[in-house]
Amino acid sequence: KRYIGVDLGGTKIAAACVDESGHITNETRIETGAHEGAESVYERIRQAIMRASGEEPIHGIGIAVPGLTDPRTGTILTLSNIPSLDGFPLADRLAKEFGVSVQIDNDANAASWGEYHFGSGKGADSLLFVTISTGIGGGIVLNGQTIQGKQGFAGELGHMVVDPEGFACGCGRKGCLEAVASGTAIARWAKEADPQALFFQYAKEQNREVRSEDVFQAWEAGDSIANEIVENVIRYLGMGFANYIHIFNPERIVVGGGVSKAGVRFFDLLRKQVEQETIPVYKGTFEIVPAELLERGAILGAAMLGGK
Ligand code: ADP
Ligand code: ZN
Repeated sequence: KRYIGVDLGGTKIAAACVDESGHITNETRIETGAHEGAESVYERIRQAIMRASGEEPIHGIGIAVPGLTDPRTGTILTLSNIPSLDGFPLADRLAKEFGVSVQIDNDANAASWGEYHFGSGKGADSLLFVTISTGIGGGIVLNGQTIQGKQGFAGELGHMVVDPEGFACGCGRKGCLEAVASGTAIARWAKEADPQALFFQYAKEQNREVRSEDVFQAWEAGDSIANEIVENVIRYLGMGFANYIHIFNPERIVVGGGVSKAGVRFFDLLRKQVEQETIPVYKGTFEIVPAELLERGAILGAAMLGGK
């Protein structure tokens, strides 16, 4: 069977045809044109699906969107990057148009479903997907099922408070994991640091503001200020992950997003920290692994949602 997976982003729409073994064909990209309004964005999604479908019949469509959806009604609730689609009955419209079932879900939820089927989550019955990017997003698969909750809002792993005195979060609270340990947060810690820090030099060489990757580069080079920031971030992530483990008892935590590119040393430290934070009986019950599918995770997961 052939399913269409769509990754609807604020700047581009990516789509592809996926079969049951995760084989991808007809990959296509088109600009979202978010400023042109709902009907125009809808038309572009339709175009992307037609191109991804090719000539053969399709058996389902799944759409991953960067924000809150109601998977039960297939309605978009709110997308901060594409505000014109708020309240849009996307699944209904596409189902009428293409005559197949259409599922819609948050992009991190879709990516968790993708990793579960075809990525680093393969073979694990229960997993958490955590994306450490501009923000921190998450998706939960427990005993082979995606967890959606009453409204489809479950899995907001980035909005667990780990420091009540921490930076303000976009959600209105203080010290959410996202606010203190995302790529954006790491850059924020860096900007407040001693101007002697090596990462400022790296940023200056590139003629831009300091970024999370500069901090990790300086850390690898042995800079003590970078080390302080990274240790602090690992401490927060360790606290958050241990909390997740105690609640969900996952077999694997799959970590994706830009910050997961920080490398092997980062993962080793994170594992050690989480081991220290977890209650002894949980030791050896979980693994922490890098995501495998990267930007294709949402497409693959969306396609498999479409096949549900
Ligand atoms: P998005 O949030 O748009 O999905 P990404 O998942 O690529 O994008 O995450 C971007 C964040 O990851 C930025 O804060 C960026 O500074 C950070 N980042 C990118 N590459 C690295 C790296 N190699 N090491 C650490 N942080 C990185
Ligand atoms: Zn928050």
